[in-house]
Amino acid sequence: MKTITTHYIDGSFVESHGREVMDIIKPTNGQSIGRVTLADEEDTRLAIAAANRAFVSFGKSTKEERSKILSRLHEAASARVDDLTAAMVEEYGGVVQFAGLIVQSGINAFLAAEQALKDLPLTRTWGKTTVTLEPVGVAGLITAWNANALFICLKLASAVAAGCTVVLKPSELSSIQTQVLVEALHEADLPKGLLNVVTGLGNVVGAELVRNPNVAKISFTGSVGVGEAIMRDGAATMKRVTLELGGKSPTILLDDAVFDQAISSALVLAFMNSGQACAAGTRLLVPKSRFDEARRGIHEAMRNITAGDPADPKTVVGPMVSQKQYERVQAYIRKGIEEGAEVLVGGEGHPEGLEAGYFVKPTVFVNVTNDMAIAQEEIFGPVLSVIAYDSEDDAIRIANDSKYGLHAAVLGTDLQRARRVASQIRAGRVVINNMTDDPQAPWGGFKYSGTGREYGQYGIEAYLETRAILE
Ligand code: NAD
Repeated sequence: MKTITTHYIDGSFVESHGREVMDIIKPTNGQSIGRVTLADEEDTRLAIAAANRAFVSFGKSTKEERSKILSRLHEAASARVDDLTAAMVEEYGGVVQFAGLIVQSGINAFLAAEQALKDLPLTRTWGKTTVTLEPVGVAGLITAWNANALFICLKLASAVAAGCTVVLKPSELSSIQTQVLVEALHEADLPKGLLNVVTGLGNVVGAELVRNPNVAKISFTGSVGVGEAIMRDGAATMKRVTLELGGKSPTILLDDAVFDQAISSALVLAFMNSGQACAAGTRLLVPKSRFDEARRGIHEAMRNITAGDPADPKTVVGPMVSQKQYERVQAYIRKGIEEGAEVLVGGEGHPEGLEAGYFVKPTVFVNVTNDMAIAQEEIFGPVLSVIAYDSEDDAIRIANDSKYGLHAAVLGTDLQRARRVASQIRAGRVVINNMTDDPQAPWGGFKYSGTGREYGQYGIEAYLETRAILE
């Protein structure tokens, strides 16, 4: 049993003032594996005060000083890769292969931010005008549980590169991972108060960060509903906000795609992180002319996408993070059936042999129309909707017929055509036949998928104000 009773404030682990204690539940069996004391408003205010004190000098730091800190953060986090991955597998049931990738991308974010900072001019002059990019102030970082370690590293890296000090409120479902990561980052010999961490509930710690006038910016990753509340409540203190919200991402299979290959890529996009990914390609758009062939191909390829123990390197789909998330996914599977979609693979209930914990059956619906709830709403589980389209224009229309616009994929052999389609998709990121990442490329959403961008120079700029001095 792991017991966490401290927060990280002003460079030390200090006992919580909070009175509420929450069980940490293991998703593979629903059993408690630890307890965490949740922070209250007092803890949050102490963390905000420490970050403001630290900002007085860190806000004036040079590029070189920030760059050295980013290197040290990278080195410190790298020392605990295996512990962090193990904590993610245990705490949210992340499958070990993917959890390892998440941790590694988080750690890489420190070096990527260092590189981006090097290439970002912080001062420009012409004539008698000087324009400087200044850190915005104390940043409140609020993360979701589904790739918590990545979000923490990414947000912290951009904030430090910009010269901001931070108060982090990790997801309360990620307390063990956060503890491991913060213990690691503590070894980076950071200026006191640069990083402060208060684990607690969103409506307590998160709400205090959003409302407190001594926090200049909120960078949030999570659901649309909470994102809306942050924008609304942050308006009273004119918060700068970056919101990384949900998605219902389309994968467009063009009719010239090599189907075996394209279907296997599409299924990786749909089922990565057990479908608990904001960018998950949960709508697969297939040409009507090749629908039967696609259906057979998907059915065959789904044999390899089974639910199982997340610690087993062969497992593709682990459990859902919580009972609530399990029930949410079940409700959508029922809804899909009621709406008249056909279950090609999976369906309601637990997979055989995995009755304990929050496992669901990886599910594919065919004969889905884009107006169905399973095609419009974010399920955040391993449920794929396959939708037929008539023509290239029809595919683009369906892809864009969504309140979300986070991510999309175009799979096909004629690159000119794939680029033509990609350029018409209203989403913050579109990949063409590509399963790799570029840590300098911006990430963020159109429409209800959010506002602002992370990664690379775009991510650093989100923590900067612009000042012009004219003589
Ligand atoms: P959530 O919105 O429930 O919680 C996210 C964070 O917000 C948590 O730390 C929570 O404690 C906090 N919070 C809750 N209420 C708050 C309030 N009133 N004020 C301030 N903070 C509050 O989301 P979740 O269930 O943790 O994550 C799943 C969601 O995150 C999905 O919608 C997913 O698409 C989205 N997400 C988006 C991205 C992206 O990059 N766009 C990445 C991952 C997840």
